[in-house]
Amino acid sequence: MNILLIGSGGREHALAYALAKSPLCTRLFTAPGNPGTARHGQNRPDLDVADHAAVRAFCEAERVGLVVVGPEAPLVAGLIDDLTAAGIRAFGPTKAAAQLEGSKGFTKDLCAEYGIPTAGFARFDALDPALDYVREQGAPIVVKADGLAAGKGVTVAETLDQAEGALRALFAEPGAAVVVEECLFGEEASFFALCDGTRAIACGTAQDHKRVFDGDRGPNTGGMGAYSPAAILTPEIEAEVMERIIAPTLAGMRARGTPFTGILYAGLMLTDDGPKLIEYNTRFGDPEAQVLMPRLSSDLVPALLSACEGDLTGVALEFDPQRAALTVVMAAAGYPGAVVRGSAVRGLDAAEADGALVFQAGTRQDGERLLADGGRVLAVTALGDSVKEAQARAYAAVARIDWPEGFCRRDIGYRAVARELL
Ligand code: ATP
Repeated sequence: MNILLIGSGGREHALAYALAKSPLCTRLFTAPGNPGTARHGQNRPDLDVADHAAVRAFCEAERVGLVVVGPEAPLVAGLIDDLTAAGIRAFGPTKAAAQLEGSKGFTKDLCAEYGIPTAGFARFDALDPALDYVREQGAPIVVKADGLAAGKGVTVAETLDQAEGALRALFAEPGAAVVVEECLFGEEASFFALCDGTRAIACGTAQDHKRVFDGDRGPNTGGMGAYSPAAILTPEIEAEVMERIIAPTLAGMRARGTPFTGILYAGLMLTDDGPKLIEYNTRFGDPEAQVLMPRLSSDLVPALLSACEGDLTGVALEFDPQRAALTVVMAAAGYPGAVVRGSAVRGLDAAEADGALVFQAGTRQDGERLLADGGRVLAVTALGDSVKEAQARAYAAVARIDWPEGFCRRDIGYRAVARELL
């Protein structure tokens, strides 16, 4: 079967790695792709993925049997709807179902209706009532833009002044919609479920590091590293998440006439009162895919096909229970602010010599040379018998990358390693 993968980041390189391994995969195309995905198939930078008619024509011409969408934007733009309507098998949620990620207000309303544990909240479309509400609730309190804001629309306000400032900034935009939430306390972890519209099966756990500097300091980023599994998500907590969060979400989406098919990625806060939903994403995480895919021992393709067919009965995804994976993101100096592009990145083969995997994100091929071409450039992943061992191997591989213009955090996985030492 020919497969078309949409996207160009480190997540897509990890997905390309997993898809291309499948005996069911004849040819893999990635649009637009990056130099990493080119190692597993053919890149198609010529295909404009925002032009759904063009994607459809490509699938027909190349006899594509499965389309897999990596990033959220094409989902929210309705690519799955348009391909499915044309009879092309496409994995991921419809535009309506992708609202679970695209609209925080939509998700919060669903949680309220179905009793799904989440932070208490209120929605606002005007400044004054929002100001009254935060003054009444007091700090700490969380202020969020309602819409895709690439991680930049959230303020965890320690003081009322900060909360008011965040509200004023958001409502400076005409037509702004805002969610104000109770501040939750605990450790964060991510749970992934593969869903067929009715059923869900577990698809791994991970924890990431969002802040740019060691010790979880500095501004938020797309993610500076991750590890899997998240040992803090015990089998008991996983069962609770499935039963109290994922299952009622699928039931609610079905009842709304917008069943959810795809990857449901629950961002959780593990509070003293049990796991609570912070947010949903409707696709694999980046860099979480870079730790999930190397641990996956099952064939991903039949599972995605079963989900597309609406029947995951009897399907299970096996993740190597003995081994942990850890990924260290290497970013260009200045990230998450402005970065300089075009510096040479060397040493990938040396880094992979001992079994590590270097997933590429913001890279560009220039003849023989590989150049940095974005903020997050590489995700260096290693497996080990423990997070500590995976961490040591990942950093040994990082040390072999010759890229003076790049940097990485030196402490990815520190919490999990400390827990292992207990
Ligand atoms: P991203 O998709 O990058 O995670 P986002 O814009 O979708 O970001 P959220 O995931 O909702 O936003 O929030 C971002 C971060 O803010 C969370 O990972 C968490 O650290 C913190 N946060 C969000 N909501 C709360 C809450 N109610 N209480 C405490 N912290 C919160």
